[in-house]
Amino acid sequence: RRRIGVLTSGGDSPGMNAAVRAIVRVAISRGCEAYAIFEGYEGLVQGGNMIRKFGWGDVRGYLSIGGTLIGTARCNTFRTREGRLKAACNLVKNGIDALIICGGDGSLTGADILRSEWSGLLEELIREGRLTQEEAAPFTHLVIVGMVGSIDNDMSSTDLTIGAVTSLHRICEAVDNISSTASSHSRAFVIEVMGRYCGWLALMAAVSTSADFVFIPERPPSADDWESEMCEILKRHRKLGKRKTIVIVAEGAIDKNLNPIKASYIKELLINRVGLDTRVTCLGHTQRGGRPCVYDRNLATRQGVEAVEAVLRSTADTPSPMIGIRENKITCQPLVEAVKLTQQAAIAIGKKDFRRAMELRDPEFEE
Ligand code: ATP
Repeated sequence: RRRIGVLTSGGDSPGMNAAVRAIVRVAISRGCEAYAIFEGYEGLVQGGNMIRKFGWGDVRGYLSIGGTLIGTARCNTFRTREGRLKAACNLVKNGIDALIICGGDGSLTGADILRSEWSGLLEELIREGRLTQEEAAPFTHLVIVGMVGSIDNDMSSTDLTIGAVTSLHRICEAVDNISSTASSHSRAFVIEVMGRYCGWLALMAAVSTSADFVFIPERPPSADDWESEMCEILKRHRKLGKRKTIVIVAEGAIDKNLNPIKASYIKELLINRVGLDTRVTCLGHTQRGGRPCVYDRNLATRQGVEAVEAVLRSTADTPSPMIGIRENKITCQPLVEAVKLTQQAAIAIGKKDFRRAMELRDPEFEE
């Protein structure tokens, strides 16, 4: 009878609650006990009331609510050995021998570090008299399973992360709203969207709203004088009869010398070189909050089921798995590898190796 802890960590994303709900209920129906750990790793380090046993009814209504009801935090203490000693001690004291983490690559890295240090942490806790031999004895190893909650869709080895599709819906709705007022006044709007090093949100939003131009980190404009090229395209669209101009800029957009491309710079170009009445709209956190769309509820639920099954299958020798989705099939693959590829992709962008970045994110990537 396993005791499975669940926590959400890093930036919140819509669908995290659906994941927690699925994990708690599947754990219970598979004869396990479920524990919610509040405020991410902060709750694990603090223990006490931050770790609570959850019953079936505790996650009632979770499916359709945005954000994360059990809270999330960035916890610097967990990055230290003392923080992880406290976390290990609290897990043992609560009898928790498996942890499912829903978060970004940082959160999943932290979880795997806890697992790799596990026996050393317990030895140290015993040596320092913070745990007894008898208390620690049943906890020979810690099972870690990762789920990816992020609106950025920046994790390698999975087609989608929990929350990305909801965020895309939100962006498209905002662009549609902006489009009608832009058309009315024959204005231009430069819209900045989230995504950090990943241009997925910006690119998908541009395609879905028929934007005139888009800037993403993975494909900086190639022309030396890309400013003129963009202005010519926008002028041509106007000549064809368009009454609005929409340019979408990913927050991580860069030129080919890796200098950031800022929405304010594009605005100046549109005013001075295309002669358009131009506004900038930064969509900000409206992209992250609110109810998860059907796809994210479904994805988080299916992945939550697989996460519990992965806990039940796992042995001391199984590498920590990360639950993903590829070609509409829920997948389970080594977490460390996926995180490593994700981090290497960000580094490849920093080295202007954009093609390599795409291959690292998706081994089957084709130009
Ligand atoms: P997001 O994509 O939203 O930024 P993330 O999970 O990548 O999510 P981070 O801030 O990188 O967000 O990590 C969340 C928390 O995970 C950190 O505050 C810290 O507690 C833990 N963590 C991250 N990296 C490590 C690490 N190398 N070692 C130990 N803990 C870590």
